[in-house]
Amino acid sequence: MSDLYTITLDISRYDPDTNLSWIQSYQVQAGGILRFVDVFRKINDEQDPTLAWASSCEHAQCGSCGIIVNGKPMLACELLVRDAVAQFNTHTFSLRPLRIAPVIRDLVVDLEKAYDRIHEIKPFLINPAPPPEEGDEYRIPPETVNNYVEATRCINCFCCATACISSHRHFLGPNATMANIVRLMDPRETAKDERLDILCREDGVYRCHTSRACSFVCPKEIDISHFLALGKEGKF
Ligand code: SF4
Ligand code: SF4
Repeated sequence: MSDLYTITLDISRYDPDTNLSWIQSYQVQAGGILRFVDVFRKINDEQDPTLAWASSCEHAQCGSCGIIVNGKPMLACELLVRDAVAQFNTHTFSLRPLRIAPVIRDLVVDLEKAYDRIHEIKPFLINPAPPPEEGDEYRIPPETVNNYVEATRCINCFCCATACISSHRHFLGPNATMANIVRLMDPRETAKDERLDILCREDGVYRCHTSRACSFVCPKEIDISHFLALGKEGKF
């Protein structure tokens, strides 16, 4: 078979029972159209059932399979073996867990902890305006929605937050901050003052230094730093 690759995965292992960490190498023969989640399954089936990794929908919609591949945060369900070989120009890959939350085991991080940051910005309309007429729906003009609809594609995979150096210190992070800005742009939200307080607090938008690393890695191709720039300039 021509589209067959021999790849080496150097994977971070962590055993919470012994508190030991190490790098383990696996050599795998894989077809080019296998995704990295398929390769993990192959390792579980053929070499090592103890390797732990996370996924759920496996269609780039749930954000649970983020990992760091050769330094770049990515979704393991989207990355084909042949694309990885082409993109990184190598057959050897270092795989690490995302750096946004404590590691539970191997490539699995505690996403609930990461979600604490999302919950802090209240990812819902705090005080939605009523529709103009009772019983009617609130209609938002397309030209208004177009200003922020791109940001609503976010699946909270935390790839951007992992790439953002500021996120590892005192910053809510790109995705949480963007989610707050989206609701500042949403005409239905009336709790603008509360949202501005969140935006401008100590760990708010001014922690961002506009490096654009977040936009570079987003699997949904959202220009996150554009929205953060709007937030800094107060252009809602
Ligand atoms: S903005 Fe993009 S990279 Fe960041 S969490 Fe959302 S989908 Fe993931
Ligand atoms: S542009 Fe801002 S949010 Fe994005 S990676 Fe850089 S510091 Fe982080």
